[in-house]
Amino acid sequence: MNDAASLLDVLHGHKKIILTGHSDPDGDCLGAIAGLYFLLQGKHGRVTGIIEGPVPDRLSFLLPSEILVINPEEELPEVEADLAIVVDSGDMKRLGRVGEMIEGLEIINIDHHPDNENFGDINLVDAKASSACEILGLLLQDNIHLPPRVMQAWGAGILYDTGGLRHPNTRTQTLELLACWMGKGLKLHLLQERLFGRNSRASFGLYQEALRGLDFSREGRIAWTVIRQEIGKPSPREVTQKVIDEIRGIEGVEVAILFVDQGERTKVSFRSRNFPVNVIASLWGGGGHVRAAGVTREEKFEEVFPEILSAVEEKLDEWNN
Ligand code: AMP
Ligand code: MN
Ligand code: MN
Repeated sequence: MNDAASLLDVLHGHKKIILTGHSDPDGDCLGAIAGLYFLLQGKHGRVTGIIEGPVPDRLSFLLPSEILVINPEEELPEVEADLAIVVDSGDMKRLGRVGEMIEGLEIINIDHHPDNENFGDINLVDAKASSACEILGLLLQDNIHLPPRVMQAWGAGILYDTGGLRHPNTRTQTLELLACWMGKGLKLHLLQERLFGRNSRASFGLYQEALRGLDFSREGRIAWTVIRQEIGKPSPREVTQKVIDEIRGIEGVEVAILFVDQGERTKVSFRSRNFPVNVIASLWGGGGHVRAAGVTREEKFEEVFPEILSAVEEKLDEWNN
């Protein structure tokens, strides 16, 4: 059976399905889940969408209200299922606690991370694809009718992971897919506006905090900053892309690092022009793409900061020589 056929089989089948993706979801992850949910909902089987949050306000328009968002401390619901569809996740650890719910189930793994561990029974993995949403679009667009809201969800995921079609993961197929969907009524400019053109005042406060903390090392080839995550403040995910893209764009910067100080835990995002930041993230069990990677450390910011900065400095020096 080819890849499209195995997915179509599931879409038309009678299985009870858990649909999920990585914790702290981004636009690609949410778009992929939303589009699949719309296709599966109301079919012969039963589908439960579940994800470990938070879902940033900026992206909440993507998520159907039926999808359960759990927080890391919350008790997991009992869900009966035969099959799990996992999107945008290189391994099972990325699912957070939802991983426990799908242990032992048949798994379909749909992803574009180069370090994907092929943990599924069916692995629809393509590291050249811009996004999980692009993989889904390319697999299914010639085989089934995609309702407008599916094209909107997957279009948003593609725009999110390509930074609005500006990153080098934007390829011919990416644009062809979007062009085809535009021909069918997808309003790309409205999606761009929703994803990148609006900021709440509270999220702009996070952006200001990040710019105030901006610092450099290695003659400006490394730039970094920190945002403190606090209850009552918006999720730092609201501004991750904006902050780190702006910082990476500063002339002379090769590697940009954004630390999110979550108290006992620190989330680290890396972006680069060319330097392989996935190698850095993998030093502590994280991962991602060559130019966009991340890791979560179960330690305080003050503890991880010097270690991470010196590791980046050292690897960048080696890479330059
Ligand atoms: P972020 O900086 O959180 O937007 O993530 C950038 C890229 O790194 C994405 O492709 C993520 O999938 C990947 N990534 C982020 N955090 C982790 C992690 N803890 N483990 C593996 N990959 C990660
Ligand atoms: Mn993602
Ligand atoms: Mn992705």
